Amino acid sequence: MRVETADIIIVGAGGAGLRAAIAVAEADPNVSIALVSKVYPMRSHTCAAEGGAAGVIKSNDKLDYHFDDTVAGGDWLTDQDAVELFVNEIPKELTQMEHWGCPWSREGDGHVAVRPFGGMKIMRTWYASDKTGFHMLHTLFQTSLKYPSIKRFDEFFTTDLLVEDGRCGGITAIEMRTGQLRTFRGKAVIVCSGGAGRVFPFTTNGAIKTGDGMAMAYRAGVPLKDMEFVQYHPTGLPGTGILLTEGCRGEGGYLLNKDGYRYLQDYGLGPATEKPVLKAMELGPRDRLSQAFWHEEKKGRTIPTKWGSVIHLDMRHLGEKLINERLPLVRDLSRNYVNADPVTDLVPVRPVVHYMMGGISTDINGATTVDGLYAAGECACVSINGANRLGSNSLGELLVFGARAARHAVEYVKTARPMTDAAATAQASDVENRIAALYKRTSGKERVPALRQQMTMSMEEGCGIYRDEVSLKATCDVVAEVRARFKDVALEDKSYVYNTDLFQTLELGCMIEVAQALVVSAIERKESRGAHQRLDYVQRDDVNYLKHSMAYYNPNGDPRIDYLDVVITKSQPAERVYGAAAGGQVTA
Ligand SMILES: Cc1cc2nc3c(=O)[nH]c(=O)nc-3n(C[C@H](O)[C@H](O)[C@H](O)COP(=O)(O)OP(=O)(O)OC[C@H]3O[C@@H](n4cnc5c(N)ncnc54)[C@H](O)[C@@H]3O)c2cc1C
Repeated sequence: MRVETADIIIVGAGGAGLRAAIAVAEADPNVSIALVSKVYPMRSHTCAAEGGAAGVIKSNDKLDYHFDDTVAGGDWLTDQDAVELFVNEIPKELTQMEHWGCPWSREGDGHVAVRPFGGMKIMRTWYASDKTGFHMLHTLFQTSLKYPSIKRFDEFFTTDLLVEDGRCGGITAIEMRTGQLRTFRGKAVIVCSGGAGRVFPFTTNGAIKTGDGMAMAYRAGVPLKDMEFVQYHPTGLPGTGILLTEGCRGEGGYLLNKDGYRYLQDYGLGPATEKPVLKAMELGPRDRLSQAFWHEEKKGRTIPTKWGSVIHLDMRHLGEKLINERLPLVRDLSRNYVNADPVTDLVPVRPVVHYMMGGISTDINGATTVDGLYAAGECACVSINGANRLGSNSLGELLVFGARAARHAVEYVKTARPMTDAAATAQASDVENRIAALYKRTSGKERVPALRQQMTMSMEEGCGIYRDEVSLKATCDVVAEVRARFKDVALEDKSYVYNTDLFQTLELGCMIEVAQALVVSAIERKESRGAHQRLDYVQRDDVNYLKHSMAYYNPNGDPRIDYLDVVITKSQPAERVYGAAAGGQVTA
């Protein structure tokens, strides 16, 4: 088997992976980097981000305010040391992006413009029209090209981490063009493989977001933290799940029920005013907005369609000029996918799975419990998002913690012992044999698409915006059954060149692990907090559950769930108040 070597191997070339690669190259040009990605970097999901990245820049704002919004938004399940570090670092990172060429939108006098975002009580979201992720990813990609120490392996599908005695020494990855397996040997690995929204059937997430890196780290013994917290974004397009950014509401869009009524005022998010109210209404946090939709649906106040119930996003009052300038992508998407022009029409929307608050458990340096193994970006859980991420904190997270994990990895590799040849060879040949067996298997009666559909539908049914013991246990049983039947899957396509059947099979294997960790963590958390709402335990329970859940892999059944204390430095848990109760002050 062909062996590649590099000091640091980065799995994933999205925002987090590219930021990490640049940080390694800048910290020490002599440290060699292998940047491994299953798609070309610009096809990573970061490219799809629309709304923006939050960071304190304006004179009316303070780092403490960003800290408070993030901690309260996360329902106090955030680690406050990580949040503090994050809010301090992010303005520098966003300015650095500017210097690398990111075309941030501007005010008339040339200053960087900011827009309101949900749960942020002051306008602080930097944006590049409504294509922020595209411009950020482009900026990072073009910057990465100037460093000779970054060697890219585009369209290489990582299958496993190589770990010996609690120390990570590389990965195995399939070159997708040829089907050949390669070993990548290194002293540290940074997993930047993105989220796992695809474990649900209706999601804003690109097809590649199947939780591969989460599953790899989990199988290697690293716990997955806070997996039960799944973010539903309130405004996805019915049918496709394509996102209409929170920027629509940031710019002043309304959410209306079937009677044309701004129903959020009935859910503690009022008052309804003409101008955007940063503490309230459409700019409440995502968990609250998605939950309000669920209640409206139960009350029969939503609009039924063949794609499920919808409500309306009303942007007509914003005017064509503003929509063309600040929300051009939203206009294109609405016209092309639901045949509604936001300038003249109401746009149907519904909540859609968007983001995983949980992920590979790391400390504030991106380090995991396995030496030399780091994680950053959406696949990681450094705990700045807690029980509910605020929109526009994720793009910042991948910059701050991508760079931070990289700098720590650079220090680590200076003294790290490499993995032994014997262990690396043995583990790589295990992977080779496993894949060969999959190719050989002919008797399998199970098919990947059917298993995948059964599992994802069950996740939505039993583990959605609201859950209870009965629904969660039913989903848990389905996931366990799918996991057992997955062992009988046979490939229909036995070729080696871009064998998508093989990759979808490997991805389903990863999705099953992630789904199981998620649903078992949700069963064990017997309280309601942030995005985890239990109909049978409706209160937040700080006495028993002000702690992170940690799911440990069990090859033979349900994961073991343990708990880790939340880091609280200066903000004691309190009630989350938005809207009128919080003063409802108009600041925009
Ligand atoms: C539609 C949409 C809009 C969003 N808008 C915003 C926004 O406005 N503001 C905000 O803050 N956040 C937003 N988010 C969230 C944010 O964009 C993501 O959380 C973030 O971009 C994730 O970046 P990442 O680098 O961690 O992962 P990604 O960008 O998803 O990159 C993952 C990388 O890992 C690689 N990879 C995965 N598995 C493997 C494997 N097995 N082998 C090799 N490589 C692998 C992929 O090839 C890819 O390069 C949005 C998300 C979506 C879906």
